[in-house]
Amino acid sequence: MLHVGINGFGTIGKRVADAVRVQPDMTVAGVAKRSPNFEATIADDRGYDLYAADGREPFDEADLATAGTVHDLIETSDVVIDTTPSGVGAANASLYADHDTPAIFQGGEDADLADVSFNARANYEKAVGADTARVVSCNTTGLSRLLAPLKESYGVEKSRVTLVRRGADPGQTGRGPINDTLPDPVEIPSHHGPDVQTIFPDLDIDTMGMKVPTTQMHTHSVNVTLESEPTTEEVTSLLADESRLFLIPETLGIDGAGKLKEYTRDAGRPRGDVWENCIWAESITVEGRDLYLFQAIHQEADVVPENIDAVRALSERTASAEKSIRRTDEALGVGRGLVEHDGSPQRVDSHADD
Ligand code: NAD
Repeated sequence: MLHVGINGFGTIGKRVADAVRVQPDMTVAGVAKRSPNFEATIADDRGYDLYAADGREPFDEADLATAGTVHDLIETSDVVIDTTPSGVGAANASLYADHDTPAIFQGGEDADLADVSFNARANYEKAVGADTARVVSCNTTGLSRLLAPLKESYGVEKSRVTLVRRGADPGQTGRGPINDTLPDPVEIPSHHGPDVQTIFPDLDIDTMGMKVPTTQMHTHSVNVTLESEPTTEEVTSLLADESRLFLIPETLGIDGAGKLKEYTRDAGRPRGDVWENCIWAESITVEGRDLYLFQAIHQEADVVPENIDAVRALSERTASAEKSIRRTDEALGVGRGLVEHDGSPQRVDSHADD
């Protein structure tokens, strides 16, 4: 069993901890937090050992037992996943190095903080045995999963993506916009293109970003000029075979992120999480060598399985991406409860209550 510590128990950290918990080869060594807020009580309720990132007093005052400090957590962990806010991971890097504990950072950190920027489908092997990895952001993860099979099968001459981004996560009450549509960032390309190039260094990609008043999901409008000329049906079939891409069948009547989230809540997903890229099947269109499609990305969830694969890569327990991805997906339930794009019922056996 790999003992995995999670430092930072917020939007990403709590999901990652729950994903570690269901893996057959991993256990949660504990979670570190700064404050005894509602998420600390959830950690306690789940039975995760709670470690104090910033002193134990606030937890003592709130009557929440702590098992030690963040140093103790790092010492007891085989791998630490740092899910603290952007920039805090960089400040924590020396802690992990001092304890000689492999560490995984998140997309809010600069790429040069880690040995490798990571996406399981695109470059798992590069992280095998590394000391540190950075799981790229939700948007970069979504684009990497899509571009990897396209590059392998057809070659990519140029990608152009407009990212219509959620203004905030549901719990981020201080962010916006609440009544506007913002070019964000105004500069072109947005930072997303260069971030995708940390995964595919030779990829030609231009990105434009916007922010809109929703907390549900990001939506990408994608145009990829391929090096060869497959049919729409061939591309559809290629993408349908990818375990972390869900092709939304037209028959479901899902017109946006609201119904998508409702669908995954109905399907029994924890927190209604959508770990897969959601591609509108009827949007997949090839004209000459140009591919067009729309996809939605659940910002709180798509990086979660990637963190699990990064643990296996760093710890050198599973040398193959395919094996790790399959193991992660089966344990977590990626694909579970979602119909195939041709309308057939389930992609993975249903285990509604695990
Ligand atoms: P968050 O604010 O929801 O959670 C961070 C948690 O870390 C909070 O509980 C906070 O109290 C805690 N924390 C703060 N300082 C700490 C410290 N010094 N030690 C331990 N814990 C500390 O943030 P998040 O949205 O989960 O983001 C975490 C990382 O994941 C960031 O790098 C972010 O860019 C990245 N990410 C976020 C999203 C998203 O949409 N939320 C998607 C992909 C990647």
